[in-house]
Amino acid sequence: MTNPQAPRNKRFVGPGAMPPGWSAPLPPSPNETPLGLPPTEEELEAAAKLQDHMLENLAKTSAPTAPQPQAIPTHATNAKPIPLNHNYMTMPKTSHVRANPLAGFFRKPGISVKLPSGVGFYPQEMVELTPTGELEIFPLTLADELILKTPDALLNGAALEQVVISCAPGVKQPKRLLSPDLDVILLGMRYATYGNILNVESKCPKCGTENSYSINIQQCLDAVTVMEHVLEVHLDNGLRVIVQPFDFEAAIKAAAAGFEQAKMIQILQRDDFSEQQKMIELIKITRKMSELQALLVASGIQEVILPDGSTVRDPQMILEWVTNTSRGDLELLEQEIKKLNMAGVPREHEVKCTNCGNQWKAELSYDPTSFFAKSSSK
Ligand SMILES: [Zn+2]
Repeated sequence: MTNPQAPRNKRFVGPGAMPPGWSAPLPPSPNETPLGLPPTEEELEAAAKLQDHMLENLAKTSAPTAPQPQAIPTHATNAKPIPLNHNYMTMPKTSHVRANPLAGFFRKPGISVKLPSGVGFYPQEMVELTPTGELEIFPLTLADELILKTPDALLNGAALEQVVISCAPGVKQPKRLLSPDLDVILLGMRYATYGNILNVESKCPKCGTENSYSINIQQCLDAVTVMEHVLEVHLDNGLRVIVQPFDFEAAIKAAAAGFEQAKMIQILQRDDFSEQQKMIELIKITRKMSELQALLVASGIQEVILPDGSTVRDPQMILEWVTNTSRGDLELLEQEIKKLNMAGVPREHEVKCTNCGNQWKAELSYDPTSFFAKSSSK
């Protein structure tokens, strides 16, 4: 079905070269920096505004009883002076901004990780790596932790983006991150903040006993594999489809789809709903899910090659085609994109039941909400 050895790598001219179709996977937003060009002053100003706006949102998304951080922490590697709050009690009243003598005591990167997408997938200026080709990850700040503990952290793209900006400052455009890279970054944050051991619980599928087991994060990160850039899927109707893993925005849509699915299960279990009410709700959710499914599959498609060799890269045209394609083809494409999404970091862990001895493979969820929720109560 697929041909990972396809000679498409030739089209990747080197690190930073863009794969076919990558240049415009989504309609660019009006204030987005064109790739390959250094940002202009207006763009920098717009970015600063955007960041202020996101920080405002951050304050809104925090738990109401949570303490608000006094100053926004910046990184030791960031050479810019720190914009300290004027009401900050220890701030001496000077007319000009001085370098902060505490800068040397800011948090340090906790770990460097290898990204599953390799270096060649993104435009050159998008990810800044160490000389050994790794990405530095900083521990979570208090504000980051509060964001990740918000129940719908993954559904809130701006919140998650803020945490990536804070903990992986080498990533310049978090929204363009591919999903396998995002998972490795989250795992790195977990390591940098709470250490190597991740305690997870998994219910035995045989006897129902809740088993807890530990995952060695360092081992997982060492086992990260660099994936093929793109995959080609051949459909029976003669079309060839170039697929890629989800990016950040698609990953958020996927989380929303998972959320809908969970809602569906809850509705089925409700006793206070009549069969008819259940049916109406299920139809609504099914409709929403199939819309999301089409959007997701379309976002994992770089280009479609017609039998005559011509190609379609327009995201809108691709979405229209996906919405009107056969169920079988849709499922095949979905399956191949999912495989790519799972690339990189090991997800399945062998678990043995303490009660009945049954062995099974438990899947580790990278949903930050569950991933970081229990972690601080060590
Ligand atoms: Zn068991």
